[in-house]
Amino acid sequence: MWLDIYEEFNELSKEEQLALFEAMKQDLYPVEPEKITKLLNSIRESRFSAGMACVHCGSMSVKRNGKYRSRQRYLCKDCGKTFNDMTNTPFSGSRYPEKWVKYVEMMVEGYTLPKIAKRLKIHISTAFYWRHKILYALETHGFNLLTGIVESDETFFRESMKGSEIAHRKAKKRGEKDEKRGISNQKIAVVVAQDRNGNTIARNAGTGRFKAEETDAVIGGYIHPTALLCTDTATNYKKFAKMKKLQHEPVNERQKQRVKKGIYHIQHVNNFHNRLKKWMERFQGVATKYLDNYLYWFRWLEIGKNLAFEKQVEQMLISACQKSNKTTVNMIRCAEAKKTA
Ligand SMILES: [Zn+2]
Repeated sequence: MWLDIYEEFNELSKEEQLALFEAMKQDLYPVEPEKITKLLNSIRESRFSAGMACVHCGSMSVKRNGKYRSRQRYLCKDCGKTFNDMTNTPFSGSRYPEKWVKYVEMMVEGYTLPKIAKRLKIHISTAFYWRHKILYALETHGFNLLTGIVESDETFFRESMKGSEIAHRKAKKRGEKDEKRGISNQKIAVVVAQDRNGNTIARNAGTGRFKAEETDAVIGGYIHPTALLCTDTATNYKKFAKMKKLQHEPVNERQKQRVKKGIYHIQHVNNFHNRLKKWMERFQGVATKYLDNYLYWFRWLEIGKNLAFEKQVEQMLISACQKSNKTTVNMIRCAEAKKTA
């Protein structure tokens, strides 16, 4: 059937052939220029919400300076440097907005790197660096202050010394043991704290004995002094509550005292732990040095999970581009080298 049509294709003029090709391409791989334009406008408005300021020096003395590859460029009259809407964002230097949007869609869906690389026809290392550049950029937004009843509990992940996911996938052979994958028997404590408005912190608190000081280091700065802390009966939390002068309701899970006075419990954080573990399975053991990035990613998805998919994508894209962020591939490489050393 298609061969018949293809035969007739040869009777068309070169121009008609190209027009047909474009029409078929649009049918098969539709691009939505209007959607992209809208998103780019939203990014620009959010990035420059306080006025058009130079992304290099902050000066407001900025003028439009022509277009390069169909994108508006600006020139700073103070430092003399030029920039565009995407300079110093995770997507600077990449020319295909459709790919960024698709990439962020796949992050909202939680795709693994091999799947992303295949779907977007990009190299797996490009997919890797985009992921971490986006996550580092998102993390600059930090955490909200937790107020009211704050549940907190830790869960454990196995330590993994493996390098980036790319190297790991190449090196691993069938039947190789865990030691070769760089997974140790050490456990990493991940502390999750959540208030009843859904504000959530999830952070790597390190290996070894999990003490009040570690708890303080990861969540201490984000708990309002008037908050009421709900935890299990572990002494580290008792000590932590004392240190911070927080009201404290320890719940004894072992004695089946699951809910105190009808409201004090840690079931929301424990459910969060379960969803987190399930979500992490697909990555087959995340390198410990990137654990915080994944925790932030999952937390982001959890907070936005009741929004429509399109809205989640838009928020992630805008938030990743909102602040000027110069995390480059080289910086991620250096961080990797340093942590491995
Ligand atoms: Zn400047």
